Order: sequence, then structure tokens, then C-alpha cells
Amino acid sequence: MEAKIVLLPGDGVGPEVTAEATKILRTVADAFGHTLTFTEALLGGIAIDQTGIPLPDETLALCKASDAVILGAVGGPKWDDPNAPVRPEQGLLGIRKELGLYANLRPVSVRTALAEATPLKTHLVADVDMLVVRELTGGIYFGKRDRGQDDAGEFAYDTMYYTAAEIERIVRIAAVAARSRRKTLTSVDKANVLGVSRLWRATTERVMAEEFPDVELENILVDAAAMYLIQQPARFDVIVTGNMFGDILTDEASVLAGSMGLLPSASLGDDGPGLFEPIHGSAPDIAGKGIANPIGMILSAAMLCRYSLNLEAEAAAIERGVDAVIDAGARTADLANDTSQALSTAEMGDRIAAAIRSA
Ligand code: NAD
Repeated sequence: MEAKIVLLPGDGVGPEVTAEATKILRTVADAFGHTLTFTEALLGGIAIDQTGIPLPDETLALCKASDAVILGAVGGPKWDDPNAPVRPEQGLLGIRKELGLYANLRPVSVRTALAEATPLKTHLVADVDMLVVRELTGGIYFGKRDRGQDDAGEFAYDTMYYTAAEIERIVRIAAVAARSRRKTLTSVDKANVLGVSRLWRATTERVMAEEFPDVELENILVDAAAMYLIQQPARFDVIVTGNMFGDILTDEASVLAGSMGLLPSASLGDDGPGLFEPIHGSAPDIAGKGIANPIGMILSAAMLCRYSLNLEAEAAAIERGVDAVIDAGARTADLANDTSQALSTAEMGDRIAAAIRSA
């Protein structure tokens, strides 16, 4: 197979971890006989520095013409002025919207060898293996908003707005994923208070009854979900939820795995390229030191193989490579008990590449 992949390394540790994902994709391409071509483009702070805008037209055109996009991370103190007219995050939201990436998939699993790295009791996290499916282009982050002054004084509002069609399509993505896993879907809403959540729940129940009778559905309120994620995290298989609830719950869920640096994500639409990025940010505190954990980015590359290129064996080979080096005790500084023994970003990438080649 031949595929065109656009690399958006971005800022901070973004370029460091993107280099390792590229190394791993080249390794699987060699091992399985594929031709992958990589083109680098600007996004985020580096794009602001070089072109004045966070998402240049050229970047967007390259992404639209590609089979998949790899994104490192954007942002950092240099561009943090809240009054700046352009900000790196505008590039991130812009590319998700422009590519129609309405479904954000974040798998969270706890590797036995790393269970002691989580702040929770080991027995609670031992069997955690969940997939959170977050709606990414609707809800309160994109609804009508205003801030102003009226007779009552200063005011502001944001609107949580969903159409049934937006809910249906994200529920279908989650239900299809649940079908290939443990066949349980948990829908998270706030239907006891919000009208938009009552539409969410009714629509989810209808889609599941009509199209996925083989997948068990449970509805839970977002406040209870926040509690169960810590109290009984292993009970979850696939979670589907709206944009804001998903934003908050996925950060909470990421704690289970032990380090931000471990977790991947995929953002998908109905057609066109998917976008694959680790869940962490640009980590300015460690940028340039060559110590960032590249595993979240590398597992995102595995998701790229699975979801955008339909290469399941290649995705599984990457995931087995990561498991093998972790089981063998390889640790970057964020996971190491003894940081003097920690591997650099590039060394961790080399180890995983070697594990893939020798499998
Ligand atoms: P962050 O995820 O960058 O860092 C949080 C903590 O996790 C830091 O201590 C960092 O060193 C550590 N960390 C993150 N990734 C790591 C890795 N791969 N290996 C080891 N340790 C890692 O979050 P933050 O500090 O809140 O944000 C920093 C910048 O990143 C901000 O400008 C923010 O806006 C941006 N950000 C970007 C994205 C994105 O590009 N998708 C997401 C979140 C934050």
C-alpha cells in the first residue's frame, strides 16, 4: 500500500515525539512492504512565528490531500498572552473543524508493568481497558456565545447545542467500536438537568435499539461518571459523551495510565484523513531536553494504521512492540523510579523499532 502522511510536529516536545512516531511508521512500512511518504507542515506557535497565522492555507491543503495526519502538540509560554490576536490553539480547533473530525477516540489501558505508576491502588486499575469516544466539533465549545453588559450588569453565556444528527453519528462510531470489544456502551450526559442531554439520551437509546441491539447500553450522569472513573474504572468498556464532558473525563481517565506521555488519540470524520496525536500538550518544562515519553505519539501512529490505513496487523505490531519494551523494563524519565537509568525519547523509539523488527 502507498499512503501520504502529513506531519505537523508543532511546538515544544511535539517535534521530538513526532520524530519517533515517524521512525516507527518507517519501521512497520519496511517490515510489511508499504510505501509511506511523509510531508512536514506548520501548525501552532511555529506557524505563527513563520507565517503570522496558526493554520496556514498551505498546511490545510496538504492535510486535505493526505491519507492521514500526525500532530505533535501546539502551544507554549511564548504564545500564551491571552490578549494576542492569534493563538496556537486556534490552529488545533481550526484543523479539527476544517477536516470534519467530529469523533475523538481515546483508549485508556493500564499495562500491568506500569500499574504502580498510577496514583490509584494497583488492584483498582489492574484491568482498566476503556475507549472514550468524545464528540469533538459540536456542543458548548462551538455554540452561540456572548459577553456584554445589560441592565443586570456584566454577563456572558455559552450555549450547549446538539442536533439529533450530530448525536446519532457519534453514537454509531462508539457502538461500532463497542461491538468489536466487550459490547457495552456507557453514554454520559446530564439528563436530570439539561434539555440538550435529554435529547442526547433519547437519541442514543433510539440508535442503539434500532441499530445495535447486540450492544448493551447504560446511561449515567456525568457527575456519577467522574466518581466511577476513580472508584471502579475497570467497569467501563466504551464511553460516549459530548464535547465538554468528554474533555474533562478524558483528562481524568488519563491519570489511570500513569503518565500523560503514554496515551494516544485519534480524531475521525466520515471521510478524508484522520488526525492522530498524543493527548499531552507541548510540555514546555521538558522541551528540548530529549526526555519526553514518545509512547503516546507512537500508539497514535498505531491508531493511524488501524483507522486511516486499515492496516490492523501493522497497528497490532506497533502495540506489541510498545508492550514488549515496557515489559522488559524500558522507561523514560516520567516513568522511571531511577531517572539516571531513564531512556531518552530517541532511545525509547529505537527500542520499540527494534522490538517490531525482531518480532
Ligand atoms: P502538558 O500536557 O504539555 O504537560 C503537563 C505535564 O505532563 C508536564 O509536567 C509535562 O512535562 C508532562 N508531559 C506531557 N507530555 C509528556 C511526555 N510526552 N513525556 C513526559 N512528560 C510529559 O500540559 P500543559 O503544561 O498544561 O500545557 C503546556 C502547553 O501545551 C500549553 O501551551 C497548552 O496550551 C498546550 N496544550 C496543547 C495540547 C495539544 O496540542 N493538543 C493539549 C494540551 C495542552
